[in-house]
Amino acid sequence: MKDISLGLMNGKRGMIFGVANDRSLAWHIAERLHAEGAELAFTHLPPPKMERRVRLLAEPLGATCIVPCDVTDDTQIRRAFQEANRQIGPLDFIVHAIAYANRAALHNPFHTTSRADFAQAMDISVYSLVALCQHGLRYMNEGGSVLTLTYLGAVKMLPNYNVMGVCKAALESAVRYLAAELGRDKNIRVNALSAGPVQTLSAAGVEDFDRILRHYPQKAPLHRNIRPDEIGTSGLYLLSDLSSGVTGEIHYVDCGYSTVGW
Ligand code: NAD
Repeated sequence: MKDISLGLMNGKRGMIFGVANDRSLAWHIAERLHAEGAELAFTHLPPPKMERRVRLLAEPLGATCIVPCDVTDDTQIRRAFQEANRQIGPLDFIVHAIAYANRAALHNPFHTTSRADFAQAMDISVYSLVALCQHGLRYMNEGGSVLTLTYLGAVKMLPNYNVMGVCKAALESAVRYLAAELGRDKNIRVNALSAGPVQTLSAAGVEDFDRILRHYPQKAPLHRNIRPDEIGTSGLYLLSDLSSGVTGEIHYVDCGYSTVGW
């Protein structure tokens, strides 16, 4: 699939938040969008080490706009959008693939989550989507598309997902409210892709993640784990005009695992 291009994103420009390395789900989506003709801007966490990593990946895709952005800082978000607008022009899409909870909040029992850890996880993993829409809207074209990444832990209790499950529930709700407002104001769609488990930097923070990876193929209708390139193609669907009638949706890309009740 990687080598086939239908030019579905020709002439479209977008901004990718959430690439940390070549395992990042945002990276798989970016690669697919690029293959379909999209022009991309990337953000990275401010430390130079993170910038180097993202540059190494993004520059071969022809990306020239690679800007720092810690989503806990509205000034950095504003500057990132201004810079993207200056360098590549108005955006047709935004990818939000960002989540964080500190180790203690993921490893300790959920009821012991501290107020500070809860607030930080919600700020980075949920409010950041609101902030990106808030600051990015003026730089987006009518008819654009916003995509975030979520997980089944939003709607079911899953072992060790803890505060992140609560964040994902809030994120999915935010998707519906944002979809209603951005659809009304600018015909912009907002959707979430609910991915099955993939080994990434963030996933490594979830205790016993290997056990989840072994469990899915036993229960999922397709009897395997999702491939990262499938996150890429489904991301392409949600960001392209192929899904022009779809908004406020939580789209599962998990080999069917979420449809099975035992
Ligand atoms: P990842 O670690 O590659 O990506 C997480 C990204 O969040 C990183 O790029 C990191 O730099 C960024 N980030 C963290 N704090 C930030 C901050 N303050 N400001 C800006 N960026 C910040 O891991 P991933 O698995 O690709 O995660 C991407 C998204 O996919 C997350 O929302 C995650 O919850 C979701 N997701 C992952 C899986 C999975 O199994 N890997 C499954 C479903 C959903």
